[in-house]
Amino acid sequence: MQKHITILAGDGIGKEVTQWGKRVLEAVAEVYGFQFSFEDQLLGHSAIEATGNPLPDATLTACKNADAILLGAVGHPMYDNDPSLKVRPEQGLLKLRKSLGLYANIRPIKIFDELLEASSIKPEILRGSDILFFRELTGGIYFGQPRERSENGLTARDTKIYSKYEVERIAHKAFKAAQTRRKIVHSVDKANVLESSRLWRETVQEVAKDYPDVELKHLFIDNAAMQLIRDPKQFDVVVTGNMFGDILTDEASQIAGSLGMLPSASVGDQVGLYEPIHGSAPDIAGQNIANPLATILSTALMLDIEFGQQEAANAIVNAVDELLKDGYRTGDIKDGNTPSNMILSTDQMGQKVIQKIKQTAIVTP
Ligand code: NAD
Repeated sequence: MQKHITILAGDGIGKEVTQWGKRVLEAVAEVYGFQFSFEDQLLGHSAIEATGNPLPDATLTACKNADAILLGAVGHPMYDNDPSLKVRPEQGLLKLRKSLGLYANIRPIKIFDELLEASSIKPEILRGSDILFFRELTGGIYFGQPRERSENGLTARDTKIYSKYEVERIAHKAFKAAQTRRKIVHSVDKANVLESSRLWRETVQEVAKDYPDVELKHLFIDNAAMQLIRDPKQFDVVVTGNMFGDILTDEASQIAGSLGMLPSASVGDQVGLYEPIHGSAPDIAGQNIANPLATILSTALMLDIEFGQQEAANAIVNAVDELLKDGYRTGDIKDGNTPSNMILSTDQMGQKVIQKIKQTAIVTP
């Protein structure tokens, strides 16, 4: 297998974690005989600094020509503290998702048993949780027009807009995935208040008719946010819109112990983009303490979803699992019982994953 991968390190810890994603892919390629070529491109604040544009043309072209994209994160505190800045890092990411038609963001939330104690939720509530989120990614309130200020800046509006086909295509992906799992889909909306949510619910109900083996349940977003913490095991596949999915999946990161453990895949009809769900974490950037595992697990999703290489994908997930069993942690997933010599830097954790893959990967001839 020969594949070309574009790497968008982005900003902050993005640079620190994507280098380990790349090295893990190189290690897997060595073990399984794949040939990967890589190309680095700019996105976000680093792209604005270099070119004035958060998504330079060269980046978009390299992404369109790639077989898969690995992304770190974008964002810089100067923009977060000054909303008046018109050219912003996240515009690059939103435009990239839109340009590549990446309408489905897939986020598996699974607790590694070894991290039960690292979460702020009680272990007995968490144990066995295994949720697959489908967040709509190119519609809803993050893209709807008009979005503007009026009345001398004293009034502001955003527009939440969904068309039927946008709901249908992500609902189909969610139901198909549920058929391979526990066969339950929870659709999350706010249909008691929002017209766009009523269209969402009607459409999901229609799509459900094509999947009679899957049970469909509806939840309002406020209840979903509560149920997710109260009893996460009730969920199998969750499908929801852009903003609700953004918030729920960050909340769900507590089920996995840390944002630093959660990978994601953004897919549409062309090339897929694989990225950790965390941001650029400026508070820890440049200190070599960020957890690289979310990015490393994103490369496993790439191998599985984009390249159909389940065995290689499993080799990465198993290596992470083994390292956690061995007791290794980064700072964000340590608990009160973690000895200080088992708390690793970004680079040490990345190196351990590669060693483990080389020691334990099973290659079926
Ligand atoms: P964040 O995810 O960057 O950080 C939240 C907290 O989690 C911080 O305390 C951080 O140190 C910690 N954290 C995150 N990833 C970690 C990792 N791998 N290892 C250890 N700890 C980790 O979210 P934020 O602070 O709300 O945003 C920071 C910047 O990132 C902002 O500019 C925001 O716009 C941007 N952002 C970008 C993306 C993206 O690129 N997809 C997503 C979210 C936020």
